[in-house]
Amino acid sequence: MANATPNTCPHCGSLNTGVTFGFNPQRINDEETLVSDTLFACTDCDGQWAAFGFVMIAQRNGGPPSEEAQKALAEAVASAEELRIEPLDQEGNPI
Ligand SMILES: [Zn+2]
Repeated sequence: MANATPNTCPHCGSLNTGVTFGFNPQRINDEETLVSDTLFACTDCDGQWAAFGFVMIAQRNGGPPSEEAQKALAEAVASAEELRIEPLDQEGNPI
């Protein structure tokens, strides 16, 4: 799945999706945390999936990420494993 994108629902193909949980939090500063491996949910079909190797910045206050956070994100992306999408059932178990 070379062109897999974590934002597309693997159940119904919708783009009305969002991150619901991030694993492996690494604190950047008081407002920002780097997470790798995230859980997504789809607002159209209530489907859930995990995106392993997907790195993002979780922010407490919204707004654009700081320079510090962008640097941390770039480093994390460079060393992240290959993106792997794993669909989950309604209980959050792998299908
Ligand atoms: Zn869906």
